[in-house]
Amino acid sequence: MKIIVFGTKPYDRTYFDEANESFDHDITYLETRLDHRSARLAEGADAVCAFVNDTLDAATLEHLSAAGVRLAALRCAGYNNVDLEAAQKWNITVVRVPAYSPYAVAEHTIALVLALNRKVHRAYNRIREGNFALDGLMGVDINGLTAGVVGTGNIGTIVIRILTGFGCRILACDPIPNSRCRELGATYVTIDHLLGESDIVTLHCPLTPNTRHVIDETAVAKMKDGVMLINTSRGLLIDTRAVIAGLKSRKIGFLGLDVYEEEGDLFFEDLSNQVIQDDVFARLTTFPNVIVTGHQAFFTRDALRNIAQTTLQNIREYEQTENCANRITAAT
Ligand code: NAD
Repeated sequence: MKIIVFGTKPYDRTYFDEANESFDHDITYLETRLDHRSARLAEGADAVCAFVNDTLDAATLEHLSAAGVRLAALRCAGYNNVDLEAAQKWNITVVRVPAYSPYAVAEHTIALVLALNRKVHRAYNRIREGNFALDGLMGVDINGLTAGVVGTGNIGTIVIRILTGFGCRILACDPIPNSRCRELGATYVTIDHLLGESDIVTLHCPLTPNTRHVIDETAVAKMKDGVMLINTSRGLLIDTRAVIAGLKSRKIGFLGLDVYEEEGDLFFEDLSNQVIQDDVFARLTTFPNVIVTGHQAFFTRDALRNIAQTTLQNIREYEQTENCANRITAAT
């Protein structure tokens, strides 16, 4: 199939080229992100391949359809950036990679928990400046803490498994409880119960109209004083302004983010020579008890290999059957 890969970075190309040796698709790599302005670049292609910050809204999908595109292959799990009703209207099939490496994201989540608790980011800088004082670096034992896991699908389950290994008590919240998590010792409770009792709250649910700003001012007020909040899922799960207020009042003791609600203007690019215009984001980076990473939780060699392999397999399956097991629709 003729495929245009939007938003390509050198590492995408490496793994897609490697995987394509066994598919032989006709791939063109573009650095530009996909949106309604760039969609016309797909003229003559059968499929486009898109990532988390590409915009597949109604206007983009209409342009893609006019360009002859029949398939949008997401090289990610989340699909909140796709208007699935518009895709149906414009006869574009949407497929995704539902689970390329839940370990990658779960392990990065734990990296944030451990770094924040033991202040690894601060210790790193201190040692480089010859400051060997320990004041301000004290943590707590993770063993014995209560961790609240919001969303117990692929990633949440692995987070639970790891935190259980640390000796945490696990509270979980998910409209569809997972028997595997129960076996691991998780107790399913309401979100309010989870927020009220957890020392660590970590978000692993998808972004939907129901979960948008699931952590807002009201939710912050319900949390334990000094709570550690981690979000490696999607930025819009958190109302950043409410969380900044929580950090300033010390209600929130630690914040670890791999995603940010306005990340589309920032992440995946080198902006080190520019002045960051987003004052909310800039404020986040001033707190000593906040670590932000730029949507890198997925970024392991294993994950990139699986993403490329599954994406090209999805395209092959669609090519052969006009359908795909990893298809998503408005009813998904
Ligand atoms: P999954 O579909 O396996 O699990 C999501 C779980 O969330 C499901 O069990 C679902 O029932 C639950 N859920 C839905 N609504 C909920 C709600 N209101 N409250 C609580 N739980 C709810 O997905 P996954 O593979 O575990 O991935 C989770 C999310 O992680 C994805 O949606 C994606 O946004 C994010 N993600 C981030 C990165 C990264 O690099 N930072 C990489 C991959 C995925």
